[in-house]
Amino acid sequence: MTEAETSTLTTAFRRAADRSRGRAQPADLPESIGRLTPQRTEVLRALAGCEDFVSTQLLHAGLLATGSRVGLSTVYRTLTALAAVGRADVVRDTNGEKLFRYRPGADHRHYLICRRCGLSQPVDSTTVEAWAERVAETSGFADVQHTVELTGTCATCQATAGTSG
Ligand SMILES: [Zn+2]
Ligand SMILES: [Zn+2]
Repeated sequence: MTEAETSTLTTAFRRAADRSRGRAQPADLPESIGRLTPQRTEVLRALAGCEDFVSTQLLHAGLLATGSRVGLSTVYRTLTALAAVGRADVVRDTNGEKLFRYRPGADHRHYLICRRCGLSQPVDSTTVEAWAERVAETSGFADVQHTVELTGTCATCQATAGTSG
């Protein structure tokens, strides 16, 4: 991650904190969302360095392996905060565990994820976005969000699936 990106994220965290000031916090929005501490920056950089979706524990293990002393709860809070400000995509694996992937731009994206190896690939979601917008406009609901998860078996895993594991 470049310095410019880091500063953009810092701004995003501050904006989220400003927005949440003076009104009730959603239950899953960490109170410390406005502060991009050195440890949070470490988590950000680690996440940005991952090509595929990662679990909190896997990212934490990776950080420890590189000498970081960041705690698991800090990793989790940072990832959740990133998702809250729209800078991380979140999916759940087959066990219901949350997986995170850094979102380089403000663009909201959906992925096709391999259930076997975790390979993730952005997919065209124009139709889904148009549908979601239409529902939001006609429902009378505010802050409408959506989660779309597409999973399957990637070409590589299909090729090695002969062993019926
Ligand atoms: Zn695969
Ligand atoms: Zn979408």
